[in-house]
Amino acid sequence: MLFIDHGRICERIARHHAAPSPQQVRDILAKARELRGIDADEVLVLCRVVDNDLLEELFSTARFVKQQIYGNRLVLFAPLYVSNLCANECLYCAFRKSNTLVRRKALSQEEIARETEVLLHQGHKRILLVAGEAYPAEGISYIFRSIETIYKVTIPRARIRRINVNIAPLSVEEFRELHACKIGTYQLFQETYHEPTYRKLHPRGPKADYEYRLTAMDRAFTAGFDDVGIGILFGLYDWRYEVLALLSHIEHLEKTFGIGPHTISVPRLEPAEGAPLSMCPPFPVSDDAFKKIIAILRLAVPYTGIILSTRETPSMRRESLSLGVSQISAGSRTNPGGYSSTSSSEQFSLGDTRPLLEVIKDIVAQGYIPSFCTACYRLGRVGKDFMELAKPGLIKKHCLPNAIFTFAEYLEDFADNDLKNRGNTLIDTMITMDIDTDPLRSKVRENLQKIAAGERDLYF
Ligand code: SAM
Ligand code: SF4
Repeated sequence: MLFIDHGRICERIARHHAAPSPQQVRDILAKARELRGIDADEVLVLCRVVDNDLLEELFSTARFVKQQIYGNRLVLFAPLYVSNLCANECLYCAFRKSNTLVRRKALSQEEIARETEVLLHQGHKRILLVAGEAYPAEGISYIFRSIETIYKVTIPRARIRRINVNIAPLSVEEFRELHACKIGTYQLFQETYHEPTYRKLHPRGPKADYEYRLTAMDRAFTAGFDDVGIGILFGLYDWRYEVLALLSHIEHLEKTFGIGPHTISVPRLEPAEGAPLSMCPPFPVSDDAFKKIIAILRLAVPYTGIILSTRETPSMRRESLSLGVSQISAGSRTNPGGYSSTSSSEQFSLGDTRPLLEVIKDIVAQGYIPSFCTACYRLGRVGKDFMELAKPGLIKKHCLPNAIFTFAEYLEDFADNDLKNRGNTLIDTMITMDIDTDPLRSKVRENLQKIAAGERDLYF
């Protein structure tokens, strides 16, 4: 189908059936260290690595690449589920239309504002708006109004600075309207690129159209989007097939529009109420395989952010961070209204239910700097401009100072004394170790003084 060449993917997988030699693996890892990516055949060789020592070499190469491109910062966001109404029948999702166990709810604009306020009081600055594929009477305008509502909410010293959106695919005209709402990234997961599996798992509703979903990013770019996020729901089909198909999707976008995706999400199937398939994934992905997937994606597309959600447990999240993850959600609820009440059903069970403060303490203990940065999007450093900085590893020169500013704001406004002490020590260490040229170092210190004096939203 289109740019997913099923026959070619299967033929490649069949060709790489044996465990590779150490030399073969090491040659690929050496190439990956040049930060220019690796090709589909090389990806398949790495998929077959089982030897523990070689796996460790794969992981340490992924750590190296992540460090080179992104440094020690980790971007944090929260999903905001505005509605669980849905016209589809995805067999793995609690929101599917015929699931009578689910209490349905589309939040009113007042309720959306209340949810936003709760997130702001926790310290969030970046939101991912999520919805099922059915909207209240006003149709898709409901989403546009919800975005406007979220941006309008303010609390002392804070407001939401970037909204990304994960909703069903739109027409070019609708994408234009969404783009005009000033969102950051439009995100959509293909779920599975394997068409027969896709058809089986999405039997009814608009989502049954595989091709319409597959071409969503083409329409988004045509409508003017610069940043899109793609993903796979792991557990539905053979992960090697999915990874290869995802790379074909990226290649297609790069060839056609000159830019690849801004982010890749790697959700794994979680149990969902009233969705028996989710309890028993057809192609379960073990923790070891999952770590391998993250490491391989990091090497294959070094410049693309990888997003890990609270579907994963704290220990799995801890292990995957160093392998290539650059963004995580935190303190999430997947039921509409879940931050201010518990009035509706959630989409799936969460592996990590810790509040944001606790997640941040954990991240800091691992030496990462939590970031709420939205600078690139605000300065128009998006699409090709972003990629040109990300590809040679230059983006971290912006990321680290901006991460420091947003973390310093968080420490001032939301942290307890314990985190304040540990956080300020981490900031000091990072400035000393990682910002070594003087005009920049002084500028960072200057901005930190301004933040301590009450200024907010400083970036460059
Ligand atoms: N309704 C839109 C759609 O399906 O594209 C957008 C929002 S949907 C709530 C977001 C994502 O949740 C889906 O793309 C799917 O990958 C994921 N999801 C659904 N059921 C899940 C489950 N049981 N476990 C983990 N992720 C799930
Ligand atoms: Fe609806 Fe999305 Fe859930 Fe499918 S995954 S049932 S489209 S909310």
